Amino acid sequence: MEPLEDTLRRLREAFCAGRTRPAEFRAAQLRGLGRFLQDHKQQLQQALAQDLHKATQLDSAFIRKEPFGLVLIVAPWNYPVNLTLVPLVGALAAGNCVVLKPSELSRSTEKVLAEELPRYLDPSCFAVVLGGPSETEQLLEHRFDYIFFTGSPRVGRIVMAAAAKHLTPITLELGGKNPCYVDDDCDPQTVANRVAWFRYFNSGQTCVAPDYVLCSPETRERLLPALQSAITRFYGDDPKSSPNLGRIINQKHFLRLQGLLRCGRVAIGGQSDESDRYIAPTVLVDVQDTEPVMQEEIFGPILPLVTVRSLDEAIDFINQREKPLALYAFSNSSQVVRQVLARTSSGGFCGNDGFMHMTLASLPFGGVGHSGMGRYHGKFSFDTFSHQRACLLRSPGLEKVNHIRYPPYTPGKLRLL
Ligand code: NAD
Repeated sequence: MEPLEDTLRRLREAFCAGRTRPAEFRAAQLRGLGRFLQDHKQQLQQALAQDLHKATQLDSAFIRKEPFGLVLIVAPWNYPVNLTLVPLVGALAAGNCVVLKPSELSRSTEKVLAEELPRYLDPSCFAVVLGGPSETEQLLEHRFDYIFFTGSPRVGRIVMAAAAKHLTPITLELGGKNPCYVDDDCDPQTVANRVAWFRYFNSGQTCVAPDYVLCSPETRERLLPALQSAITRFYGDDPKSSPNLGRIINQKHFLRLQGLLRCGRVAIGGQSDESDRYIAPTVLVDVQDTEPVMQEEIFGPILPLVTVRSLDEAIDFINQREKPLALYAFSNSSQVVRQVLARTSSGGFCGNDGFMHMTLASLPFGGVGHSGMGRYHGKFSFDTFSHQRACLLRSPGLEKVNHIRYPPYTPGKLRLL
């Protein structure tokens, strides 16, 4: 037999090369599986009889969606109303009892949720629990029937480990570095408007914001004045006095972001004021891959422009890193956008715009790989918080038709199976 390492490498290489993606390939594989069952039906029946002394039968079934039971929802601080209430809608709609744990960092929202929300819901089925990391770790020691966590991959691991102790199913809505590919064939001002809007929205503290731009050196030179123009139009000559620009959540995050301003070279912005937790809308160039700004999720109003020589190099750059929550591609050519889509993987994808894909209730929202597991929004929320119970109901009558499945399995019965 082929050594295991070789087998795994061979299969992964085939997957990365896109072999399993075309619909014709999948259909051919399923046809092959069908042929195998047809060609070896007798052999398999004999094998099953030898191994387990049984044969199988197919039955019709239906799915009953049932609540899991007691659900824990743990939320982050960056959209502290949305990221608590949207999952809560799904959990309640599916019929669960809920413990809601808002973020301790968005203190004012935490207070409103804890003091006011329980008055609107049945207290016998709903509770808000407060606390930071240590209180949440204690909470996680208890047994829940489902855990829905939104936050960082670091804490996601803690939640997953805690859930594993009780074999509790989970959804992890995590973050990461979202790439944004900008093709040479584009209108730089349109791209700059859209990228600046969704990078600096909520001061960059958005899980689906573009973390960095990938483009050619020529496109970078066209994007820089366009980004400057967009920033000035959105926030004025003095963005610090703009009512439309947010502030960094706390001093710890402010200092972290201030540190990132030392990576590469500041092309636009770069100013900061600790007393106000203000960081100017900033664009960095010439960043090194090894610098913190390219190693950690930025989660602030800082946008590095990273240069690549070709679309292939951009796709390799993306695929060499963890799978992101969102991926963006800008091009006048729909073929280019579709190529980026087809040759990469991410939780969600948006062509020629920012995070609009997550505003539609008809689309599931969630990560893949390092950016999370599971999905919600709209009907997907209801499904996430429901156990899909496989059911089969039979009539107590018509016992005669069942005699075929009962042993002894005579040659006459096996012919009928
Ligand atoms: P975080 O992981 O630090 O905290 C999230 C929640 O976990 C909070 O309620 C917090 O109290 C709790 N927590 C913190 N440390 C803990 C520990 N040691 N043990 C148990 N619980 C702990 O995340 P954050 O800073 O609040 O939010 C920012 C992160 O969340 C970013 O990575 C961002 O991308 C991600 N995020 C993801 C989504 C999404 O929908 N995928 C949305 C918003 C934010």
